[in-house]
Amino acid sequence: MSATLTKEKEILQVKDLQQYFPIKGGVFGRTVNHVKAVDGVNFTIYEGETVSIVGESGCGKSTTGRAILRLDEPTGGEVIFQGTNLLSKSKREMRSIRKDLQVIFQDPFASLNPRRSIGQTLEEAMGILNVVPKANRRSRAIELLEQVGLKEEHIDRYPHEFSGGQRQRIGIARALAVEPKLIICDEAVSALDVSVQAQVLNLLKKLQKEYGLTYLFISHDLGVVRHISDRIIVMYLGKVVEIAEKKSLFDNPRHPYTQALLSAIPEPNRKKKKERIILKGDVPSPIDPPSGCRFHTRCPLATDLCRQSDPELKSLGEGHQAACHYAEAIS
Ligand code: SF4
Repeated sequence: MSATLTKEKEILQVKDLQQYFPIKGGVFGRTVNHVKAVDGVNFTIYEGETVSIVGESGCGKSTTGRAILRLDEPTGGEVIFQGTNLLSKSKREMRSIRKDLQVIFQDPFASLNPRRSIGQTLEEAMGILNVVPKANRRSRAIELLEQVGLKEEHIDRYPHEFSGGQRQRIGIARALAVEPKLIICDEAVSALDVSVQAQVLNLLKKLQKEYGLTYLFISHDLGVVRHISDRIIVMYLGKVVEIAEKKSLFDNPRHPYTQALLSAIPEPNRKKKKERIILKGDVPSPIDPPSGCRFHTRCPLATDLCRQSDPELKSLGEGHQAACHYAEAIS
């Protein structure tokens, strides 16, 4: 975490967020069940920090990001961004709020218009809410390209003329064009080669300092998360199971699921090598999640209590929280 971050000012509070997708069936196409993709998620992000959400595919991390942005309308809860509950805002009001809340997706090519040059794309972004006066937009576009490691000569080129890493830099420039406060990076470097990944992550860190940005990073890759995060949220089957500062989470994970995830990371330091924890079975269906603790069907420590009672996320001190009945005893 940056030395100047005081954790005094919340920028985003997610409260009891729910995202249930209906399953239709029968002759009349009625709702017969729901996929509980996100089921009561709570967390806070402070100005200037980078928080990552990690978990296996299907844990609800990307759905949480989309629900915050209201790309899919959440079914319940609150998303308080800079003191305003986004879920109470009209679509029109959301348009102006989106200036402060940007997203970078995994595949920037899909979100770049192939018929528009990069300059046109950036100028269009600045024009939507008139963030930059028309006369200054081209010079600002050049400035942005240079800030993300591209050159002035790239401004009149089209998306297909760039590599994957360059397109992701363009995606970052477009997000910056509207001068946001919080950027949600949804698997933003997952499609890039490892060396390019590191360059883009370093660029994001540099821009964070320059612009005072806050990031919510969504990734399945613990290596990426270790590189970029201040704090980490671990999700399993639609729920948060652990939240901690990066060092605390990597050095002393308190939830058996987090321990299993971390044990799978290759450890270059032989002395630190830990035994790999292999989880049994697949992630259960979010249509009919297990009773009690959702992880009990795969947890090596599960007891009868775990099968009956859903553990709450409880504080273990120094900002470390875990949702496990035995978290105090685990170290
Ligand atoms: Fe495992 Fe029980 Fe803890 Fe759930 S509550 S993670 S099943 S020990």
